[in-house]
Amino acid sequence: MLEISTDASSKNEKPYCLIGFVVLEDNSIIKKDVEEVDLSKEVIEKRINETIYLELRSVVFALEYLANNNSNEEEIKIYNDNTTVIYILNRLFRNKRKITKIEQILKAELKNAKDMISRIGTVKFKYINSKDNKAHKTLENYRKACEVYTKFILLRKWEEDIKDLKIENINEEEFIVTTIKGNKFRVNLENNMCTCKYFYYNRETCKHIIACKRYK
Ligand SMILES: [Zn+2]
Repeated sequence: MLEISTDASSKNEKPYCLIGFVVLEDNSIIKKDVEEVDLSKEVIEKRINETIYLELRSVVFALEYLANNNSNEEEIKIYNDNTTVIYILNRLFRNKRKITKIEQILKAELKNAKDMISRIGTVKFKYINSKDNKAHKTLENYRKACEVYTKFILLRKWEEDIKDLKIENINEEEFIVTTIKGNKFRVNLENNMCTCKYFYYNRETCKHIIACKRYK
């Protein structure tokens, strides 16, 4: 039996909109995959709830994998933690009296899903709560790796910016940092604080603090 967990990252994890799946064969993981989705254009054009859209995309992502790696499994179950997505997927092969608004908006994605299911065979869609969703953890790990990578790139850029900073010592622990553009920030090394925007939003060491520590 093949069981596939699918998931999408939630809204507040922006800017990393991720979709992913985990494939289990007789309870052992045989495949995991994660992909980033550029939400900006698609969701605005479609005017759809982005959670539903992303969760459906994660299922379609898993279906693509199945369609391209045709297994001979007779029983395939796909899990997702969004009830609406499971509902519309279970209606795919039914003769519907009425097409819902969401089905209308997601017409292209649903047609794509239907075509792939026809190639795969029988697929069952089941709801799972997010706590038991194995794809959830995979996305979480990937997101953390992205964050570490982004920070690494940022630090490399800072090294260049630091070379152009002018530092003025106003007392033992306080400094005025002037950037190449002429912006001035005040750094206090006693509290590890700076008046720049980066520090204001992230509450963590900025390039000005690093520069002052080196200067000192
Ligand atoms: Zn700063």
